Amino acid sequence: MPIYHAPIKDMQFILHNLLKVSEQEIPGFDELDRDFTGAVLEEAGKVATEVLLPLNAVGDTEGCVLENGIVRTPTGFDKAFEAMKQGGWTAMDCDPDYGGQGLPYVMHTAAQEAFVSANMAFNMYQGLTHGAYTAIHIHGNDEQKQKFLPKMVSCEWTGTMNLTEPHCGTDLGLMRTKAEPQDDGSFKITGQKIFISAGDHDLAENIIHLVLAKIPGGPDGIKGVSLFIVPKILVNDDGSLGERNAVSVGKIEEKMGIHGNSTCVMDYDGATGYLIGEEHKGMRAMFTMMNEARLGVGLQGYAQAEIAYQNAVAYAKDRLQGRAVTGAENPDGPADPLIVHPDIRRNLMDQKSFVEGARAFTYWGASLIDRSHKTGDAQAEGLISLMTPVVKGFLTDKGYEYATAAQQVYGGHGYIEEWGMSQYVRDARIAMIYEGANGVQALDLVGRKLAQDGGKHVMAFFEMVKTFISDNKGDDAFEKDFLDPLKAASKDLQAAGMYFMQNGMKNPNNALSGSYDFMHMMGHVCLGLMWARMAKAAQEALDAGDSDTAFLETKIATGRYYMARQLPATGMHLARINSGAETVMALDAANF
Ligand SMILES: Cc1cc2nc3c(=O)[nH]c(=O)nc-3n(C[C@H](O)[C@H](O)[C@H](O)COP(=O)(O)OP(=O)(O)OC[C@H]3O[C@@H](n4cnc5c(N)ncnc54)[C@H](O)[C@@H]3O)c2cc1C
Repeated sequence: MPIYHAPIKDMQFILHNLLKVSEQEIPGFDELDRDFTGAVLEEAGKVATEVLLPLNAVGDTEGCVLENGIVRTPTGFDKAFEAMKQGGWTAMDCDPDYGGQGLPYVMHTAAQEAFVSANMAFNMYQGLTHGAYTAIHIHGNDEQKQKFLPKMVSCEWTGTMNLTEPHCGTDLGLMRTKAEPQDDGSFKITGQKIFISAGDHDLAENIIHLVLAKIPGGPDGIKGVSLFIVPKILVNDDGSLGERNAVSVGKIEEKMGIHGNSTCVMDYDGATGYLIGEEHKGMRAMFTMMNEARLGVGLQGYAQAEIAYQNAVAYAKDRLQGRAVTGAENPDGPADPLIVHPDIRRNLMDQKSFVEGARAFTYWGASLIDRSHKTGDAQAEGLISLMTPVVKGFLTDKGYEYATAAQQVYGGHGYIEEWGMSQYVRDARIAMIYEGANGVQALDLVGRKLAQDGGKHVMAFFEMVKTFISDNKGDDAFEKDFLDPLKAASKDLQAAGMYFMQNGMKNPNNALSGSYDFMHMMGHVCLGLMWARMAKAAQEALDAGDSDTAFLETKIATGRYYMARQLPATGMHLARINSGAETVMALDAANF
């Protein structure tokens, strides 16, 4: 059976040595001392390993089944969901006014990582609910909040997000679902949504669907889209459950991975819905929760790579094949373990250095969300808005790549289902697609975010890198191993930005042909910055006499690997960007 142990030491290192959370002047962060976060993460890790992990393969093999109009989740999901609710894990960062614990989002993020690594498909039931909770919390009126949020915080009722239709996914302006106003202020929702995660299931007594639809007579395209609450079972004024609403499951999709999560076609046949926020401002309501939702998907990417990595390491230490080129390391055995071979080491170092860098990047992003929400800091808001497509696009692309790399460590056994590695690859794949496919994330980054507020946020990011480099000069080894590569990569990124400025106006294809490379470049620079900061934090801890020298020295060595072997990828991406659109667009469509 696959293993998983929440990487609590690393989580704690990032929270305390890197982000120094308890020293940050953000309301609620003063409570995050090392003992408290350690206790919470220990518990989360226990739930992940003992409750969720054993159900991961069960969910994969059994999948969900549609029976008499109701979706049945895999065996054991109901008990595990109950355990998550009872443990308060669904309510961690939710508003105490609605039954939440009010903890910082960064803490929720760290706990979520363990749950997602152990069982991504299962965790989506509460993940989607959290997204729907956030939309209602930010945009709903008081009555809606009182009526729906307490039950969603506790996950007695779960939530969904309904954007996609058969003919429109990325281009939501093409949407056809209609919302007709009724005399009592409600709307009748009619249309079909597809691919709706957790669209129906047997884990909760009610499901609160958030549905995008168009009110007839409104503006064309995306500007005419509004957001509605459509409960599966209507809720009476006193909060009790009323009649069944006119929403049903058309079918559940057969798919490549996340089999334990029901992906549903949802049919709305004049279902009663309630407008959230203003008419025709549905996309704005969606976008305010995008930073969180996309950070959550980026987390799915690296969390799958993390569990795949843990298993690959165990296998590489156990499986005996061949001899070390420098002489037998297991002379009494028939062969040496795989881990002696440099190419296996390269593979494992790629995985390890990515996952730990991604974790730091994600928690940093989560702390920016806390800062912007709790202090109104516009710079933090601008920075996380800039970083969101990078977290989502880069971490999910690489998460999938490294889940596959971990599978490779197993050779043919990685391809055989019984070892579990294939599931991580299959599950990780969807994170590159939903919540805005990664190509569209790159488009958002280059087409919108770079120029946002006059380019202020990207300039602030470059300044942050520059300041870190100039503030930390003086140690030759640190300069050579960390600062010089970071400087070179940041220079590549700036040169790419310059190329877009000089050539993108002339021909927008020049910018958009390079957008994917730019997203990856920026991802590398962000992880490079995280690694330089982590290495510095590890050295500081060593200098201060921290006794966990093995962990801290490993941290520095892993960072040196990232800077030497991963960060130089920015040079290749820059070369591609500088070659412009010509070769990309050279063929007529007929010649493909
Ligand atoms: C398992 C699963 C779960 C899902 N869960 C949900 C959910 O809960 N709620 C929900 O609403 N949706 C959900 N989705 C839908 C998902 O968000 C969409 O599939 C996704 O946004 C892409 O839309 P599409 O499939 O229509 O692809 P299209 O929009 O047709 O895009 C196809 C390809 O073209 C690219 N592309 C499109 N436009 C452009 C452009 N202008 N420039 C460059 N490239 C472009 C895209 O990047 C993509 O690679 C889910 C999908 C799956 C498979």
